[in-house]
Amino acid sequence: SSADAVVCRRLVGRTAVITGAGSGIGLATARRLASEGAHVVCGDVDETRGRAAAEGVGGIFVKADVTDPEQVDALFETAYDTYGSVDIAFNNAGISPPDDDSILETGLEAWKRVQEVNLTSVYLCCKAAIPYMRRQGKGSIINTASFVARMGAATSQISYTASKGGVLAMSRELGVQFAREGIRVNALCPGPVNTPLLQELFAKDPERAARRLVHIPLGRFAEADEIAAAVAFLASDDSSFVNATDFLVDGGISGAY
Ligand code: NAD
Repeated sequence: SSADAVVCRRLVGRTAVITGAGSGIGLATARRLASEGAHVVCGDVDETRGRAAAEGVGGIFVKADVTDPEQVDALFETAYDTYGSVDIAFNNAGISPPDDDSILETGLEAWKRVQEVNLTSVYLCCKAAIPYMRRQGKGSIINTASFVARMGAATSQISYTASKGGVLAMSRELGVQFAREGIRVNALCPGPVNTPLLQELFAKDPERAARRLVHIPLGRFAEADEIAAAVAFLASDDSSFVNATDFLVDGGISGAY
């Protein structure tokens, strides 16, 4: 964004499918991947925001609820039919934990909903993307986990943490299984990012935001563009030897004591 920024065009001609492209990290990534030359397919359950995102980056919008297998299949199929390949899958849509996500409070229905939107969605998206990538002999999958997949949160968010741990474990295993077929799979583990999801969470509990900042060596939350830059790297051939990792973009949280 600064005037002397290097102009990267690493993704010219590639097709990227992004879920949750209407807001936050997904939206910033749609812009970043498009600026690097990718065709961007914006999936979101929110039609207004998803459509606006697609129009903003000259891509296409596909309304897709990531918990619905048929809609997920249609998302990837539309990408392939429109642009002729599926090179990048950024499986990113997710929801924040329910209000009090302590194991003592979270009910089974709330727990299941978080697993469905945050974890089952990633299973469905990988299942849909991998066959295209196998045929091409090439592909990069980036699944949005979180730094909480690696660390226990003292402020309880048990259903969320468990869902992200699942995303991390699944990404690692898929990365191992499909590497010889040219498909890399990485889990992206952002620290707290200044997005509507986080703002909503901290609006309910401002003290929690202040407590969090103390633990971030960089002394601030990430901006969505900083996460998007990491996704662009993982999507591109610059990361050709990066596979099956938990790719932390957390301002140093996980290194701090
Ligand atoms: P956000 O709320 O700004 O955006 C999420 C998008 O996903 C929205 O456009 C929403 O409409 C869409 N979405 C929600 N449910 C969906 C569904 N069922 N089907 C399709 N789309 C759906 O959130 P964000 O902060 O950009 O978060 C994106 C991802 O990053 C999530 O997986 C989140 O858990 C993860 N994450 C966020 C933070 C953070 O601090 N914001 C930190 C680590 C990880």
